[in-house]
Amino acid sequence: CPWGAPSTTSISCSLADVMSEQLAKELQLEEENAAFPEVVAAAEGPFITGENIDTSSDLMLAQMLQMEFDREYDAQLRREEKKINGDSKVSISFENYRKVHPYDSDSSEDEVDWQDTRHDPYRADKPTTTSRRGFIGKGKDITTKHDEVVCGRKNTARMENFAPEFQVGDGIGMDLKLSNQVFNALKQHAYSEERRSARLHEKKEHSTAEKAVDPKTRLLLYKMVNSGMLETITGCISTGKESVVFHAYGGKSATEGKVIPPECAIKVFKTTLNEFKNRDKYIKDDYRFKDRFSKLNPRKIIRMWAEKEMHNLTRMQNAGIPCPQVVILKKHVLVMSFIGQDQVPAPKLKDVTLSNEDMKKAYYQILNMMQQLYRECNLVHADLSEYNMLWHDGKVWLIDVSQSVEPTHPHGLEFLFRDCRNVSQFFQKGGVAEALNERELFNAVSGLNITADNEVDFQAEIEALEKMNEDHVQNHGKKLSTFSSDGDPPIYDE
Ligand code: ADP
Ligand code: MN
Repeated sequence: CPWGAPSTTSISCSLADVMSEQLAKELQLEEENAAFPEVVAAAEGPFITGENIDTSSDLMLAQMLQMEFDREYDAQLRREEKKINGDSKVSISFENYRKVHPYDSDSSEDEVDWQDTRHDPYRADKPTTTSRRGFIGKGKDITTKHDEVVCGRKNTARMENFAPEFQVGDGIGMDLKLSNQVFNALKQHAYSEERRSARLHEKKEHSTAEKAVDPKTRLLLYKMVNSGMLETITGCISTGKESVVFHAYGGKSATEGKVIPPECAIKVFKTTLNEFKNRDKYIKDDYRFKDRFSKLNPRKIIRMWAEKEMHNLTRMQNAGIPCPQVVILKKHVLVMSFIGQDQVPAPKLKDVTLSNEDMKKAYYQILNMMQQLYRECNLVHADLSEYNMLWHDGKVWLIDVSQSVEPTHPHGLEFLFRDCRNVSQFFQKGGVAEALNERELFNAVSGLNITADNEVDFQAEIEALEKMNEDHVQNHGKKLSTFSSDGDPPIYDE
């Protein structure tokens, strides 16, 4: 070997080498310290809460920076929101586009419903397209709309149409050309992401959990206590499919001149939208709500159920039917007097064992109430059964009337017939010999005289009557009167 063999086999490091490496490390550290401290100090939030923060972790640093970035982004959004809204009474919200969603962001009570935001400030203008002819230029300089470069650029520009939270990188700034295939894949992904994020957001905002209530409802309840209207909310009495009912002690302050009952029931209509879908038919065909129904978003429809319960209870109250007394309605929360005592709700008729005498008494009372409801309140309960009747103070109380309709509702008589069936079955099983059968009860309540002696014919006649009334509405633009003022109701015949 012309270079000669190395004298030693082990590779030793010279002192100078070691020194320089150390020096390099020191220099690096110095540089890092000079560059990062203010970034670390500026980033506040969940990462800078404990003592032992390990800022040497790249991931941690990245997350902190991302958080900082997100905050700036949100701040910018807020500025833009302010600029656009100005002093206008109608404002739009960019809430959905925010990156950081603090849990207590629910400070404004009457913010614009997100469904109402028609104008989307983020929707970019349509990307410019080639003319109708599908090509530009002349002769051999012609470029068609299928040109790869033009197409690619256009695809890149179109990425701006994706939701703002969808990260598309710096491609838009560069002269990037996306192939159709890549663009379509991206588009698919962007749309499904957008839907997912909207769903998540919607769920969080609109759901009333099984036992707990959503933040907006909690705020409403809190305000009721804070204003002195309620003393305390003690706990949950019932969680149903469509509502959660709480018990509360009434407060001292009288709202709108009304004295608050010592104990209250708070019915919170559930804002989980799908539960109410199958109730459409109750409200859609109710002329009182007809004009409003089509224009409303689902959340407002739920408020309408609460409103309906309030109106129906008031009618019943005026007729002297034992039922909860309305205290106040706020959005989807209805406060009424509590039927029961010392936080113990009165038992449902299905849960209480009555003596024969009380059973008979209850039956006649209900017969009477059904007639009053029909004639004086112009209502059919439409969910009457031993589940919605409470036994308190030696009498029956009617509750749960949000679905009640007027008898001339297109299905009103069918609902009444169902109510009658529930009632007469319950009392016949309960040993009340005098209890009318469902057809007799129907006639006794409605004052109609349907003579069919079997259920099928009877029901057919009911539907025929309903149809007659609907036809009358079609032809004359109004409903037939339900009953005449002189007592016996010659209903549905002119
Ligand atoms: P749902 O539509 O969920 O059936 P309800 O109005 O029937 O709603 O209320 C559910 C339960 O809550 C009732 O069965 C009853 O036990 C209780 N409840 C409702 N309102 C009152 C009230 N004013 N006083 C006492 N208990 C009530
Ligand atoms: Mn009920």
